[in-house]
Amino acid sequence: MKKILVTGACGYIGSHTLVDLLGKGYEVLAVDNLANASEAILEGVERITGKKIQNHNINLSDKAATRALFVEHPDIVGVIHFAALKFVGESVEQPLRYFRNNLDSLLCVLECMQEFGVPNLIFSSSCSVYGNASDLPVTEKTPWAEAESPYARTKQMGEQILQDVCKGDANLKVVLLRYFNPAGAHESNEIGESPLNASNLVPVITETAIGKRASMSIFGDDYATRDGSCVRDYIHVMDLADAHTKALEYLLAGKNANQCEVFNLGIGEGVSVLEAIHAFEKVSGQSLNYTIGPRRAGDVIAIYANRQLAEAQLGWIPQRNIEDIMRTAWAWELKRSGKG
Ligand code: UDP
Repeated sequence: MKKILVTGACGYIGSHTLVDLLGKGYEVLAVDNLANASEAILEGVERITGKKIQNHNINLSDKAATRALFVEHPDIVGVIHFAALKFVGESVEQPLRYFRNNLDSLLCVLECMQEFGVPNLIFSSSCSVYGNASDLPVTEKTPWAEAESPYARTKQMGEQILQDVCKGDANLKVVLLRYFNPAGAHESNEIGESPLNASNLVPVITETAIGKRASMSIFGDDYATRDGSCVRDYIHVMDLADAHTKALEYLLAGKNANQCEVFNLGIGEGVSVLEAIHAFEKVSGQSLNYTIGPRRAGDVIAIYANRQLAEAQLGWIPQRNIEDIMRTAWAWELKRSGKG
């Protein structure tokens, strides 16, 4: 069995990708420092897959600890590097923490991969690298505008670091996956998103509907979009998980034309904040208590993906839409709040 190191394995996308990898016969080595996650999610992974996964609680910015993991597991064939701080708003307030964490951990993982001869890396990037793109949908060739937040800049810098490292290391093969807005939960309702302090739209919606929050705010309704609220491309987390396994298999099979390749992962359609709320209200039968608030610092106005390259190269076609996202996210919220 091929052993894959999954960093950020207890996180939202990491845990759903564990399920996909285990279902497709991979062995996983899970690492998470639990900065924004809980090991309890691995019990859900076990209920779905029948496989018990042990977390290695390692801070990947700690080179000695990261190196010890590679010494202990000389049979790692690939790394999926999810581990990172990910909140746009928080990054505006704590830029140094974001640069230190997201860049140091990437450098430590890369140094260990080089030292131990592990060739295959899947890196979690983000559509935020495009900034406020003038042409929509964005393709992988769309030039980057200025990063709108320190979080986005850590992803731009991460991609640039990887491009440069590939030029100097003929053995390294990298796929950069630019996620649009991941949301939703596994259909079994055994795992989902459990943020400690939710700030992403979908969990904020479900937490408001369940009554954990009295109300929620739409961050601006005076943007130049069809209804004034920001537009994003919401992608179901299990479609994303599938893309990671496909990207890994693409590298393992040596199908990559270039050492460092990049793919957009979105459904290819823009959905406004108000449309997302209406999709939630439709599938849940709940009416949401929201107000219109001020714009949030760091937000781009509108972005959605051209996903043709991922379809052509990886054979990846997302299977789920915004209603599937809201339906599974709501089922998960009901369950984790004890109301399922
Ligand atoms: N948003 C909002 N209210 C909230 C949380 C998010 O209006 O309580 C909006 C946010 O301004 C953005 C969209 O929802 O336009 C998606 O935000 P999220 O934080 O989920 O993802 P981002 O695109 O910032 O990575």
